[in-house]
Amino acid sequence: MKSIRKQMLVYLMIGALILFGMLILATNIILKDLPTQTKEQYSEIVNARADEVSKELQGFVDQINMISNSSITRTMDLEQIKEYLPNILLDGKHRNMTIAYPDGRGWSTSIDELDISNQEQYKEIFINGKDGIISQPFINPYSKGGKEAIVTIAHSVKDDNNKTIGLVNIVIKVDFLNNIVRQIDLKGHGYSWIVNKNGDVVAHSNPKTIMSKNIKDYIHNDEDTVERISEMGSGVIEYKDENDVKLLAFFHRIKGSPDWTFIISIEEMEIYREINGLKNAMLLSIVIGLISLVIFSIYYSRTLTEPILSLKETFIEAANGNLNVKANEKIPNELGLAAKSFNTMLEQIKDLTYKDSITDLYNYNGFLLELSSKMEASPVKDTIAAIVIVSIDDFKRINTIKGYKFGDSVLYNLAQNINNFINHGEIIARFLGDEFILFLQGKEEEELKDRIIDLRKLCNREIEIMDYQFVLKTSIGASVARKADITIDEIIHQATVAKLIVKKTGGDNCRFYNYELDQFIIEEQKIENDLYHSIENNELKLVYQPIIEVSNNKVETVEALLRWTNPLYKTMSPLVMIAIAEQSSLILEIGQWVLKQACMQNKTWQNKGYPPVVVSVNVSAIQLEQRNFVEMITEILQETKLEPKYLELEITESSAMDGVEEKLIKIQQLKDMGIRISIDDFGTGYSSLSYFTQLPIDTLKIDRSFIMNMLKDENSKIIINTIIYMAKSIQVDITAEGVETKEQLEYLKQRGCDKIQGYYYSRPVDHLDIEEMLDKEMDC
Ligand code: C2E
Ligand code: CA
Ligand code: CA
Repeated sequence: MKSIRKQMLVYLMIGALILFGMLILATNIILKDLPTQTKEQYSEIVNARADEVSKELQGFVDQINMISNSSITRTMDLEQIKEYLPNILLDGKHRNMTIAYPDGRGWSTSIDELDISNQEQYKEIFINGKDGIISQPFINPYSKGGKEAIVTIAHSVKDDNNKTIGLVNIVIKVDFLNNIVRQIDLKGHGYSWIVNKNGDVVAHSNPKTIMSKNIKDYIHNDEDTVERISEMGSGVIEYKDENDVKLLAFFHRIKGSPDWTFIISIEEMEIYREINGLKNAMLLSIVIGLISLVIFSIYYSRTLTEPILSLKETFIEAANGNLNVKANEKIPNELGLAAKSFNTMLEQIKDLTYKDSITDLYNYNGFLLELSSKMEASPVKDTIAAIVIVSIDDFKRINTIKGYKFGDSVLYNLAQNINNFINHGEIIARFLGDEFILFLQGKEEEELKDRIIDLRKLCNREIEIMDYQFVLKTSIGASVARKADITIDEIIHQATVAKLIVKKTGGDNCRFYNYELDQFIIEEQKIENDLYHSIENNELKLVYQPIIEVSNNKVETVEALLRWTNPLYKTMSPLVMIAIAEQSSLILEIGQWVLKQACMQNKTWQNKGYPPVVVSVNVSAIQLEQRNFVEMITEILQETKLEPKYLELEITESSAMDGVEEKLIKIQQLKDMGIRISIDDFGTGYSSLSYFTQLPIDTLKIDRSFIMNMLKDENSKIIINTIIYMAKSIQVDITAEGVETKEQLEYLKQRGCDKIQGYYYSRPVDHLDIEEMLDKEMDC
């Protein structure tokens, strides 16, 4: 499985690398043109500087033109000129001004008499007939202190006939050029200078070199450099100096000058140094950026995935069953919301898993969870603990008679009562449908047992729900033990056994677990096991008890009753047998065997030519709930070829009452087939007779207990009379069971009872004994 953190880191890293690559590429593209640009910049500088020099020179030329054209000058009258020239303002660049005659004699503002016939201007103007010149620099022959390079700018003076009658010139200190040259700041990696046509240095940052050095003194590798500079007028050339350092010379011819060229010499390295510097700076920032990006990526992938990973851990823990985990809701993004939803969902799951919606109590899962923490966390090991199971008796019936809503209210009511009863640190939970399980604790065993007995009083009392008052009955099983001596599983098992025994012995009681109860259960399991083999071992048989028709004293019905012939269990009441069989699916097998056996026997009697009787078979509630019960009976009737009207099914009053809807449908189906239906043990349940008007029944069998007591107990009499009276009104036959005496018989006959069953006529007997009763009237 891929880790989201690694994935995110990889993506961020890939992004960073792509960005890095792109920046390098962009840097190279940007820097590629930089040398050309830098070179262009230098060319521009050199052009501008050359122009500046050019303008300066032009200024001088204009000035000398103006002087030479002035009327005073043109008189060539020295006296007048002497007055005039010094009045012309000269700035610091001018050394002096001179006027000369064609014979070379001259006067200057600084020297009274001088001869210029050996000077350049003389030659050019008087001999070569030029109008004006700018001389090459030369050392001022008149300068007093130190060498001083000067340039003369001269112009002819003409008379009206345009004949050269003299010249005027300005002497300028070359320094003014040096100033321009020095102004260019090349930060020590280059310098600017001016050379003339011959390569002689005209201006230089080092004034000593002027007219004493030639360009060739600087350029070492290239002989025709001077010629190339002169030819090209403007451009750039490469050369090496005396130290073999490579330089670039940007040059531009100075317009209006005597073939001077302005040069900027700069180390080639310098141009690239700048670029390399820039490149390095850019690379450095990219690398720093990249490192920051990597650090940020790691940090970001961590901070971003941290909550995701912690959520993942929470989910896994919850999936592993720990519903108490909490996701971090404080994450300041959608994950926080997701965590909140998850927590809400977990709360709901917890409620569904651990809570019972009807009673608001824990359910069994919640109980176990709480219990394990309470049993283990208790600091006092010799505390006494108790598990109590409270089971409502006949809860199914309460549900059937009063409806599920009422049933829920009963549960809720009882839950609240018990909840108020328990102390802090104790637990109550809804166990199974109609059962509650409690964990109680105390210091003394006896004290705890007394509390449980009090609990029984609390549970078994009259309650009022929805304006209906009734006495609630419960079966309570409890196990009390020292915490250190018992496990949770054991103590719950023991309480369950105790409760089971209470149920088996009729309910409405409270029992504490002891060893004998376990033995009882073990014994019961052995019986169940033996019963399981009873059919295949041929140990089951049916006996029949005749039911006598009062109107003709004849046996028209016989009730089939089950017997177990195994010598170990010969005396066992079929009631106990049936109860054990009902604890498993064994009852279905036995019930089916009984039905088939009874039908077969009845058909045999008919085949033998006896007057046909109805065989009445007891049906357990569980059988009636069996999905294919109707089909099973249909099959048996087909197989045994017994007509349905000779089969009667006895359904006890209580079993007929549970889950009425489905049973009603089944009973109706059986009735429609022609099978007779009777309600057994009538009067023992809570049902009202009117309820039975809904059921398609043929016979009501008044329970034996009423018959037994009727002669000494007025109440029983009243009940019997009421049942007979009401049965008549809905046209249902009445059978009285358990009739043992003549008195009972006479009374019942007199009251209009239709059928009599009991020892008075016959005990349940073998099928052969029945044959003797079938074709004769019974004595009464
Ligand atoms: P029950 O359906 O009420 O059956 C009548 C019981 O009353 C029988 O007991 C019968 O022997 C007894 N009895 C009849 N007349 C008298 C009398 O005058 N005095 C006294 N003291 N008893 C009388 P038995 O055979 O012991 O059956 C007990 C119960 O076992 C039956 O009560 C019935 O609920 C159940 N049972 C028996 N056989 C079957 C069966 O095949 N299937 C089912 N589901 N239950 C059966
Ligand atoms: Ca019966
Ligand atoms: Ca009965």
